[in-house]
Amino acid sequence: MPARTDSPLQVAIIGAGLGGLAAAVSLRRQGHSVTVYERYDFAGEVGASLSAASNGSRFLEEWGVDVEGAKPVILKQLIMHNWSNGEVQSTYPLGDYKSKFGTDYNNFHRIDIHKQLLKSAFEEAGAGPKCELKVNFKAIDVDPDNGTIKFENGEESTANIIVAADGIRSLTRNMIGIIPEFEMSSSCCYRCIIGSDKLRSLGLDDYISNEAIEFWGGFGINKIVMSPCSNGDVVSCYCFYPASHNNVRDDGWSIAASPQQLVDTFPDLDPRMKTLMLNAEDIKMWRLYKHQPYPYWVKGKSTTLADLRTAHPMMPDQSQGSCMAFEDAGALGLVFNTSFRENYSAVEGLRIYERLRKERATRVQEASFRARENLNERIGWSSSADRPGKLTIEEVCGYNMRDHLAKLVADMTA
Ligand SMILES: Cc1cc2nc3c(=O)[nH]c(=O)nc-3n(C[C@H](O)[C@H](O)[C@H](O)COP(=O)(O)OP(=O)(O)OC[C@H]3O[C@@H](n4cnc5c(N)ncnc54)[C@H](O)[C@@H]3O)c2cc1C
Repeated sequence: MPARTDSPLQVAIIGAGLGGLAAAVSLRRQGHSVTVYERYDFAGEVGASLSAASNGSRFLEEWGVDVEGAKPVILKQLIMHNWSNGEVQSTYPLGDYKSKFGTDYNNFHRIDIHKQLLKSAFEEAGAGPKCELKVNFKAIDVDPDNGTIKFENGEESTANIIVAADGIRSLTRNMIGIIPEFEMSSSCCYRCIIGSDKLRSLGLDDYISNEAIEFWGGFGINKIVMSPCSNGDVVSCYCFYPASHNNVRDDGWSIAASPQQLVDTFPDLDPRMKTLMLNAEDIKMWRLYKHQPYPYWVKGKSTTLADLRTAHPMMPDQSQGSCMAFEDAGALGLVFNTSFRENYSAVEGLRIYERLRKERATRVQEASFRARENLNERIGWSSSADRPGKLTIEEVCGYNMRDHLAKLVADMTA
C-alpha cells in the first residue's frame, strides 16, 4: 500500500499558464514544496479578456490572490443584440450576484490575472513556502510511475506529484498514455482588443460603461462576444465565424490579421460593431478544436490539469475555461490538505481528485460544445425549465466543492 504522510509533498508543475500557476498557489497554501517548469520566459505574454465567475473567483479569493490588482471589471449583466442593427433584444441582469454566489463576476485581461498569480506563487507573502519557477525548462519526457521529468536543456527532476498544465497541445498528456481524440471545429475565432479612449472617440462609450458581456448572433456559427476588462481601459471581442471562410489550419493565439480581414468576415453585421473592428488592435486568429472527453486524467504519480486545454479542452462559449482551471487547482488544494493526507497517499489523493473533477468538468465541456452554435445553452441564457439536465448558472456558479468532496468521501467509505 502506498505510504500516507502528513509531510509536505514535492510537486512539479509543467506549464506556467493560468492553470499551472493556480495549482502552484493552491498547493503552496497547503504547505507543499512546488516547482513550476515553463518552456518560455513570458516575454511574449498575450491574451484578451477572461471571465471568472464565482466558481473560479472564489478560489482566487481563498488563496489571497490580489483580485483588485488584476483590475477586474465587475460584470452586471448579459446583453443580446440584433446581429445586423445592434438593437438590444434582451438582457439578463446578474442582479445581486455576489450575495447569491459569494463573489463578484470578474472580467480580467488574461495578462493582468496572470501577473497576479505569478506574484501569489513566487513572492514571499502569504501562507506556505513560496514556489520555485524554472523558465526555459521545456518538458520532453515524463515517467508517471517514477515521478520523473526530463527537460530539453538536459536537466531532470523527480517529484511526488507531477501536474501537467501544459495547454492544449500538451505533450505530457500523451506521455501518460492519453491519446486525444479531436477534430477541427467548424468554427474559428478572431480575438481583438480596443482601448476605451479610442472607443470614446468613436462614440461607442456604451461598450465600456455597460459592465456586461454583450453578444451579437450566437444562433449558428457567427457570434461576437464583447466585454470590458483592465478597469474598463480595454474592451475585448471574440468573433466566431465559419472555419470554411479562410480555412486556417495553424494553431495558437498569434496568427495576426488586419482590421479589414476581420470586418470582411462579417458583411451584414451591426455597423457600430464594424466601426469597433476597423479600429481594433492586436487582432489574432484562433483555431478551435473539439476534443472528446479523455478516458482518465491520472496515471501513477501524474495528473493532467487545466481547462480548454489539458484535461478538458472546451469551447470558449460558456466563458468557463479559466474557471475550470481554477476549480482544478482548488481541488488539488482540498485533496492535498493536511488532514486528507493523513488518510490517503499521494497516488490515492490523485485518484480522488479525478473523481471530484472529471464528471463536473466534462459536463461543462459538453455544454460548451452545445453553446458553440446555440446561445440558449450558455449559462445565464439557459434555464433547466427549457430542458431537463441543461447546464444553468446556479449549477455552475453556486457549486460548493467542499460539500461535493465530503459526499464523495462518505460514499467511498460507506
Ligand atoms: C498566449 C496565450 C494567450 C491566451 N489568450 C487567451 C484569451 O485571450 N482569452 C482566453 O479565454 N484564453 C486565453 N488563453 C487561454 C487561457 O489562458 C488558458 O486556456 C486557460 O486559462 C488555462 O489554461 P492552461 O494553463 O491549461 O494553458 P495555457 O494558458 O495554454 O498554458 C500552458 C503553459 O504551458 C507551457 N508549456 C507548454 N508545453 C510545455 C512544456 N512541454 N514544458 C513546459 N511548459 C510548457 C506554455 O508555454 C504555457 O505557458 C491564452 C493562452 C495563451 C498561452
